[in-house]
Amino acid sequence: MQASLIILGSGTSMGVPTLGCECRVCTSTDPRDKRLRPSAAVVWNGHHVIIDTGPDFRTQALNYGIGDVDAVLYTHSHADHILGMDDLRPLSFKHTGKIPLYADDPTARILETIFDYTFSEDSQYKLRARVRLNRLNGEACVNLCGVEFQRIPLLHGPLETGGYRFGNAAYLTDMNAIPDSSLSLLRGVEVVVIDALRERHHPSHANIEEAIAWVDKIGARQAWFTHMSHEILHAEIDAKLPPHIRLAYDGLIIPVEL
Ligand SMILES: [Zn+2]
Ligand SMILES: [Zn+2]
Repeated sequence: MQASLIILGSGTSMGVPTLGCECRVCTSTDPRDKRLRPSAAVVWNGHHVIIDTGPDFRTQALNYGIGDVDAVLYTHSHADHILGMDDLRPLSFKHTGKIPLYADDPTARILETIFDYTFSEDSQYKLRARVRLNRLNGEACVNLCGVEFQRIPLLHGPLETGGYRFGNAAYLTDMNAIPDSSLSLLRGVEVVVIDALRERHHPSHANIEEAIAWVDKIGARQAWFTHMSHEILHAEIDAKLPPHIRLAYDGLIIPVEL
């Protein structure tokens, strides 16, 4: 089945432009150098599964016409991936039943703490988001609207994050290492979106060189880099990459097969 993977945000945690910065990327007029916080949507037959609701989620949903959400998969608990959860409220009011959210135990605990008024049993907040938080740990799978989503454990410095595989594609953000057991789960993946923060080394994100090596290890025929900082000038870095790897940009639509 044909589906689209929409890159809702291709930026790192601070976004690009970065507040207070006047570097050549932050002041670039190339629209591909404007990067909202990292997020993606898998869209097929009118279904929308969102991966992460960061602080830009509302803007992203408006920009890319997301008027309903079937489920949200979380990668990890960092602010740039979760802080827009509350913007699911209007979408949840029109949804049949509660919108299911999936997160590993540490991420779920942080969501429950930050959004206590949404999740606590005795919340008096009547207009809270109508969402249900489900645990998804390790190598668990979840079937959403008939499609299997496989969680892929990744390492983000000392933290485990969840990548996701669906059909012939995988979305692997916030990582600098892939355990061997997860590489097995990625066997046969043809299209991959992967973290590539910048050219310089970083302790918890793959840099460009490392991301190229991971793409080769996975054996994907096509790859797109995401979670990019203001050290990446799109036109300059994109031109240096091997032909099967390109930089993603906000609004990019990648055809995938579910
Ligand atoms: Zn991040
Ligand atoms: Zn992170």
